[in-house]
Amino acid sequence: LARNPGEREFHQAVHEVFDCLEPVLAKHPQYVDGAVLERLCEPERQIIFRVPWIDDAGQVQINRGFRVEFNSALGPYKGGLRFHPSVYLGIVKFLGFEQVFKNALTGMPIGGGKGGSDFDPRGKSDGEVMRFCQSFMTELYRHIGEHTDVPAGDIGVGGREIGYLFGQYKRITNRYESGVLTGKGLTWGGSLVRKEATGYGTVLFAERMLATAGESFDGRRVVVSGAGNVALYAIEKAQQLGAHVVACSDSSGYVLDERGIDLDLLRQVREVERGRVSEYAERRGAVHVADRRVWEVGAYVALPCATQNELDDDDARGLIASGVRVVAEGANMPTTPKAAALLQEAGVLFAPGKAANAGGVATSALEMQQNASRDSWTFEYTEARLARIMHDIHDRCLETADEYGVPGSYVTGANIAGFTKVADAMLALGIV
Ligand code: NDP
Repeated sequence: LARNPGEREFHQAVHEVFDCLEPVLAKHPQYVDGAVLERLCEPERQIIFRVPWIDDAGQVQINRGFRVEFNSALGPYKGGLRFHPSVYLGIVKFLGFEQVFKNALTGMPIGGGKGGSDFDPRGKSDGEVMRFCQSFMTELYRHIGEHTDVPAGDIGVGGREIGYLFGQYKRITNRYESGVLTGKGLTWGGSLVRKEATGYGTVLFAERMLATAGESFDGRRVVVSGAGNVALYAIEKAQQLGAHVVACSDSSGYVLDERGIDLDLLRQVREVERGRVSEYAERRGAVHVADRRVWEVGAYVALPCATQNELDDDDARGLIASGVRVVAEGANMPTTPKAAALLQEAGVLFAPGKAANAGGVATSALEMQQNASRDSWTFEYTEARLARIMHDIHDRCLETADEYGVPGSYVTGANIAGFTKVADAMLALGIV
């Protein structure tokens, strides 16, 4: 890790995986002999580029673009693009590293990568977002392709941004190559259920966790962080399963709505008006608490769906005191290592993002299948496939945890199951 100074989040993500691997390395020395760990930590390719664009006032703006093509042992690099001012190489590498194991867990033939920019789409006009996306793709297009690297959305990159990116890719290459990006709109190559997939998948995973304990979501108090793509559809699926979802958040604070979140209003504020949860609270007559974390309201099921390191040890203690039973990560690495340890020591069922939020990328792979066969599947069929994939990932985590002597540990199960799949492929492909 001395090779990557200052990349705090990347170090954290590597530790989380490698700390679980001791029993595998003891049993399978070929992984040590083949330098699999060392090779896994070094991305196959890292691209950093200038993104110049012109704002509405006619001023030239410069952002930095990234694409880290981490590992292609299982298939083309696959993973989202994040547009957020906090993006730097350490964030992109942590996300890319996580993505390698997550994608392996889905059972689909996809490698891992991630990208993005320190561009902040918040407060920008549609024209500015379009000009930025066009400039970003003017460099990125030469590195991606349906058999090479297939980006998707992440924080700050939704249907609007994917549209502008795809439009520019098509224009530059003169190819209608649907499989080059996922998260597309339904009329131009997108898949039903992709928009819902990460949030739905996280809740379906949590449903299975509850079921192993003979419980269900019915009537349970649920708290979700974030109010973006993952959070909105986690709320929707939890409500469909009978849960009582009382709170969600954004980067300015949280809303507590003891009558239960009114999802139609929340979607209107967030998806249509691109507004804040404070505006939801005002219109709904609910409580808005500025600059505090949502976990303080307590929950039976907690679903962190915003960003990395948003649930720390104090939050974990509060959740434990409130009687939390399940924490399933919809976001990537939202729980700090200390908080994750506290929750697990307290007997809380804890699922890491690389397992619980894998439904998004799995459905992206289903979108790629539809693009390749020029087909489009129904909502019901696609959702049934998503549900099956989430249940399979859940069961594989528990089986692997059992096999390696840590029964009930979703963290160990996910890390070992993801690692062995990628590591075996890397060994088979030789020293490359
Ligand atoms: P969105 O941009 O749609 O929403 C992000 C939400 O998180 C917003 O409510 C945002 O608040 C909040 N947020 C973002 N950054 C911060 C921060 N630094 N502090 C506090 N709140 C923050 O992103 P997604 O819903 O797509 O992604 C959420 C998480 O899920 C990320 O960790 C992402 O990597 C992960 N993920 C997403 C997948 C997908 O399919 N979209 C797939 C798998 C994982 P505000 O509006 O105020 O910025």
